[in-house]
Amino acid sequence: MIIRNFTYARLFFVGLGLLASVLISCERGKKDTRRWYKGNLHTHSYWSDGDEFPEMIMDWYKSHGYNFLALSDHNILAEGEKWVKVPNSRMYEEGFQQYVQRFGEEWVTHRMDSGRILVRLKTLEEYRPLFEDESFLVIPSEELTDGYDGRPVHVNATNIKHHIPPQGGGSVLEVLQRNVDAVLRQREETGVPMFPHINHPNFFYGVSLRDMIELRGERFFEVYNGHPLVNNYGDSLRPGTETMWDLINIAYSNRNQPLMYGLATDDSHNYHQFGTAYANAGRGWVMVRADSLTPASIIRAMEAGDFYATTGVLLDDVSFDEGMLHIRVKEEPGVKYEIRIIGVAASQPEPRELEVVEGTEAHFKVTDEYLFVRAKVVSDRVKENPFKEGDVEVAWTQPVSTITGRQ
Ligand SMILES: [Zn+2]
Ligand SMILES: [Zn+2]
Repeated sequence: MIIRNFTYARLFFVGLGLLASVLISCERGKKDTRRWYKGNLHTHSYWSDGDEFPEMIMDWYKSHGYNFLALSDHNILAEGEKWVKVPNSRMYEEGFQQYVQRFGEEWVTHRMDSGRILVRLKTLEEYRPLFEDESFLVIPSEELTDGYDGRPVHVNATNIKHHIPPQGGGSVLEVLQRNVDAVLRQREETGVPMFPHINHPNFFYGVSLRDMIELRGERFFEVYNGHPLVNNYGDSLRPGTETMWDLINIAYSNRNQPLMYGLATDDSHNYHQFGTAYANAGRGWVMVRADSLTPASIIRAMEAGDFYATTGVLLDDVSFDEGMLHIRVKEEPGVKYEIRIIGVAASQPEPRELEVVEGTEAHFKVTDEYLFVRAKVVSDRVKENPFKEGDVEVAWTQPVSTITGRQ
């Protein structure tokens, strides 16, 4: 009897232990639901001036490990009936044949007209079900393509619900602000999470540092864009986008405006010719740590700064806990990394390299003496088909601050 009681008691405690471990792992499970999602938020197709069909582009990104993609055509959403003429060249006609082969005669709507191939483009609602699943999401988008006095002003609207025409205005800043406001207004009116982001400020040097500094309500801009004409690195007279980023955030910090976050995007247009003269897919993207693959989760994570921009370097972790910034690189064999901690001291408001760590892990104590701190991870691996010859793969984490308590 005693032995049996002992057995029951043991069973009871084993059971209790099992229950506890199940509860603990559930609790852990809850905490671990976030994962990294790879996505590109700036892409063009035949719906505007890109040279490929949306399905072929979706197919490329999905098969290259992306989890989300926004086709952001100029001043148009992929809705309604639109026919395109396949450009009169062997390369594009072959491209059309590949499209038919990949998706089938049944799927492709086309006809001949005076010896040219006319194709009806599939709408987002039509092509979306072909690609979306638990590991891939299509996000509606538009590149609001505007300008002032010959200067291009382009603003992307991610997860837009209704088409927005370019808003115009009496200066570059006003055009910029009015387009940003139009997206924020639609968000307000529809209740659908969406955000504007400023595209390639140095594209024909259309948007100046001063314009970016004066802007209100914007949270994102492209610190990196893969298009050949965007001058990511500036020139002898004008700052590159990374320098701009810090100068923008000095101004934003000083007037208590939320910090600007940096994106990397492809701005891909060319899908048949490759090289630095072309805007090709695969140059820059964001890695977002979200709890699920929905537009709302992706946007929530990005607005919380829980993402990084990259041209190839991947991170296992970037976190900011109790004033400590932690970076852990996902190490690839044979690749060396340098983690540069960049920040701005309140007493000396200019960006400085605060620490450089050779290796895959860095920790930095962020105190109130800094307006903000961020990290750039530079690898020694040469970027394949780069924006600029000789580029190496890098990643940029988002600025953090203890003053504002952000991120
Ligand atoms: Zn643009
Ligand atoms: Zn674009």
